[in-house]
Amino acid sequence: LTMIRVGIVGYGNLGKGVESAVSKTKDMEIVGIFSRRDPSSIHPHDANIPVYKMEDAANMKDDIDVMVLCGGSAKDLPEQTKEFAKYFNVVDSFDTHARIPEHFAAVDAECKESNKIAVISTGWDPGMFSLNRVYASAILPEGEAYTFWGKGVSQGHSDAVRRVEGIKDARQYTIPVPEALDAVRSGANPTLTTRQKHTREVFAVAEEGADLDRIREEIVTMPNYFDEYDTTVHFIDEETLQREHGGIPHGGFVIYSGTTGWENENKHVIEYSLQLDSNPEFTSSVLVAYARAAYRMNQEGMKGCKTPFDVAPSYLHPLSNEELRAKML
Ligand code: NDP
Repeated sequence: LTMIRVGIVGYGNLGKGVESAVSKTKDMEIVGIFSRRDPSSIHPHDANIPVYKMEDAANMKDDIDVMVLCGGSAKDLPEQTKEFAKYFNVVDSFDTHARIPEHFAAVDAECKESNKIAVISTGWDPGMFSLNRVYASAILPEGEAYTFWGKGVSQGHSDAVRRVEGIKDARQYTIPVPEALDAVRSGANPTLTTRQKHTREVFAVAEEGADLDRIREEIVTMPNYFDEYDTTVHFIDEETLQREHGGIPHGGFVIYSGTTGWENENKHVIEYSLQLDSNPEFTSSVLVAYARAAYRMNQEGMKGCKTPFDVAPSYLHPLSNEELRAKML
């Protein structure tokens, strides 16, 4: 068995998750981690894995089969994915939905030059959730897809609360409204407002003597982040925040409800749900499966930018097609 040689670009939550996820495979190995920070300040879980400066990557193009890009979607990936696609097969988890077409075009242009493959926007949303929306709506053209997120920590909303004056630290949970989930599962195809689908819950540590009523008001009325939701704010101490809210759980539901029959008399409800103790570790595991696919597809001569919609399931799985047919079909 030849091992697929994997590089990790960026060593944050996802970078660490990719190191761990690759260790659970038998056909892949990490050959290096690349960071913008001083390599001596980065300590991989496996101390034998070398850490390089980002600039050194291009010199290693013959040593790495696929680079897993673990930068942030806001600033890093729009630059890093197209740059690395000049030299490597790459995968990323770019999740700024509105900018995916633009990101795709920029990366595709580089891949066509380099004859490499890039699989962008893998992960769970976009990623596994997107696949489930597509499968369901392809099968049942008459229907409606509903996506609910949570219960889970939203990094963006937690950051927004931390910027409120008088707040030391905070964690924000997004929570689906149980009645909305029930209504969708019943096949009733309800029309739901933003407020009816999710609630938000904030656990905040305030500075001593801060005006808690003013802080609460500022949070629940914050435009774009909280004003369209019902938000509960709890003030807790620092120790409780670390102890009870230190993890990064997330997940959610894609529920599709459609009909068949001449009178649309038969309802069908399709549900895919994720309950993740660690959002980054799960996302990294998806990235690693797509890294395997990117390498294999490129070995077969495919090139260009792809999304999860373009990757057949058998490329993701370590078993051969023959074994998959025997065991999983
Ligand atoms: P992090 O903030 O942990 O890491 C992003 C980058 O920041 C790293 O690649 C690293 O680059 C740098 N960095 C990390 N830690 C430090 C530090 N202590 N000091 C300075 N720089 C640091 O982000 P995540 O790994 O949690 O997430 C990355 C992206 O993944 C998110 O922006 C999100 O968009 C996406 N995502 C997508 C999902 C999906 O379903 N599609 C789900 C979850 C996340 P370097 O080593 O070069 O400094």
